[in-house]
Amino acid sequence: MKLTFLGTGAGEGYPGLWCRCPHCDYARRHGGKNLRANSCAVIDERVLLDVGPACFDNAARFGVDLTGVTSLLVTHPHEDHLYLPHLLWRRTDEANLALPYREKLSCGGPRFTPLPMLTVYGNAYTMKALAASVDGDEQLRMRMEEIHEGVSVEAEGGYRVTPVRGNHGGPKGFSHSYVIKKDGKTILYALDTGTFDDDMLELLKRFRYNLIVMEGTTGLNEQYGGHMCLENNKKMLAFFRENGCLAEGCEMYLTHMSPHWCPPHDWYEAIAQAEGVKLAYDGFTVEV
Ligand SMILES: [Zn+2]
Ligand SMILES: [Zn+2]
Repeated sequence: MKLTFLGTGAGEGYPGLWCRCPHCDYARRHGGKNLRANSCAVIDERVLLDVGPACFDNAARFGVDLTGVTSLLVTHPHEDHLYLPHLLWRRTDEANLALPYREKLSCGGPRFTPLPMLTVYGNAYTMKALAASVDGDEQLRMRMEEIHEGVSVEAEGGYRVTPVRGNHGGPKGFSHSYVIKKDGKTILYALDTGTFDDDMLELLKRFRYNLIVMEGTTGLNEQYGGHMCLENNKKMLAFFRENGCLAEGCEMYLTHMSPHWCPPHDWYEAIAQAEGVKLAYDGFTVEV
């Protein structure tokens, strides 16, 4: 599996949209890896992990084509993870697709080419958000499937996906992480999790990971607000190591980094590295 990060920032972005603190200011002046769009990633151009506001812009910039995506795994319905307007642009009258190009021009519509069916996987809260906007519209070529913690689903293309409940504040079961398995390789994509409950730690222990992606939102600050800090990222890495969950060469990459507790990439990289974890950045690709 080949995973590309289409965004590695938290909700406010990096730099924070309206902030001029030293971190945000540095990111603006230096650009490059210091700039982070809302977190999103894609595996093999087939499985999209959240649909953030900037993910299509970044995909085009990084040479990634999202039009063939057949599965969307939504962690939770906060807008930086589930930006519904992007899904509405799938709409078209399929009957017009067979027309010669010049005739299509007079039909209008935001899509002129066929699309594979997209299955959107998400928890009950995500389903509720989808039902209020995009569900039931045949022109979108989408179907919804509610996920449940610990219950694996077979996504198109041979991906076995197991949801893991997070603790992202709000009601129980508001956020879910995903364990994605294909061809004997396993990726954990864990966003907006806070600290995992014991039953979910038991579930996480059952896998042997080739790649771990984890939110590092509150970085050098303490844990709060349903998010992970670097100290807890380290604890999770130790937990995986102690339980024999790390396949050879497995690395933990942090994403969903907030500018107010995570220094700019240029400074933070060495700090994280010293703790045994790596920082993802927008456009970074890792293959397992
Ligand atoms: Zn978020
Ligand atoms: Zn969130």
